[in-house]
Amino acid sequence: MTAKRPIADLIRQEVLAMSAYKVADARGLIKLDAMENPYSWPEALIPAWLEAVKACELNRYPDPEALDLAALIKRQNGLTDQQPILLGNGSDEIIQILLMALPPNASVLSVKPSFVMYRQISQSLGLNYREVPLLAESFELDLPSLLESIREHQPHIVFLAYPNNPTGNLFDPSVIAQVVAATEGLVVIDEAYAPFADASYIREISETGNLLVMRTVSKLGLAGIRLGYLAGPSCILEQLNKIRLPYNINVLTQATARFALTHQSVFDEQTGKIREERCRVFESLANIPGIKPYPSAANFILFNAGQGRADDIFNAIKSQGVLIKNMSGQGGLLRDCLRVTIGTPEENNAFLSALENGLKSFG
Ligand code: PMP
Repeated sequence: MTAKRPIADLIRQEVLAMSAYKVADARGLIKLDAMENPYSWPEALIPAWLEAVKACELNRYPDPEALDLAALIKRQNGLTDQQPILLGNGSDEIIQILLMALPPNASVLSVKPSFVMYRQISQSLGLNYREVPLLAESFELDLPSLLESIREHQPHIVFLAYPNNPTGNLFDPSVIAQVVAATEGLVVIDEAYAPFADASYIREISETGNLLVMRTVSKLGLAGIRLGYLAGPSCILEQLNKIRLPYNINVLTQATARFALTHQSVFDEQTGKIREERCRVFESLANIPGIKPYPSAANFILFNAGQGRADDIFNAIKSQGVLIKNMSGQGGLLRDCLRVTIGTPEENNAFLSALENGLKSFG
């Protein structure tokens, strides 16, 4: 049975106007579309992890504050015991919590292109989302345009992904500093790709500042457990914590994350291999005539596939069993662009040869 009132009366206009976040069906394909770590854990770790998970009391609610896990995350990120963090069911949930806390009609600012969830969640909540285009080719922040937008719209919150998705670059810190200084609202530095970059704002957080740093364990190699975290001034995190659903980090996630993060060296080794492969894939792409990769500090590479060729090349690669991400449809600076996640050496080779075969078939 459907509701008796028309859907348009029941659902907010901005939700009706949205399209759902689409995730491509990757069954049977080499999956290089979602910035996952391609490596599983060493066999030797699995029995100890199963023991940790076996001890979980599934009949009980999880620790609502995930205190042990929070303490471990703070230690590993160089935060003091006194500094608060907010845990989320993925950093997606943290973005949602941040945006749910804003007043009606609040203004949200980011750049274009960047992570689509800033826009998607802002729009779903009826907020005024604005984005300032990045500079062509360098994908750097356009400081004058950002300052103008900040002056005009006084954003309640600014999101900057560092490194940025989907461009892969780290923005110029001196420009970020000016954006932070000019913003009277909050500035969230989204460090989802921190494991692949040698730069972070986590030490810049202060109790009196407007800077927050968001991170996730997804790209490190734990995308399946859904865990993100946010550090920032206590007066802000205290408010956000009121909106967080009480048991948002389930028992299995808490236990698995606690176990995994005490084996940080496993992830360091894996992310090290991914960084090496990032260099190799970049060089290989740069040597293919007509392909222009953009430098990346993340675990993916954006590349320009040549005018009008992105769809055909994407499809040719997919038909050879490799799924990457076609960004071209988003237009603007992403026209003609594809994004490949760095996988294992074998997966990367499969991608590179699928690309070269595809290009050959176009002559
Ligand atoms: N921030 C950025 C910049 C991302 O690219 C992503 C995922 N692609 C996220 C946040 C969300 O990550 P998660 O919800 O898995 O923590």
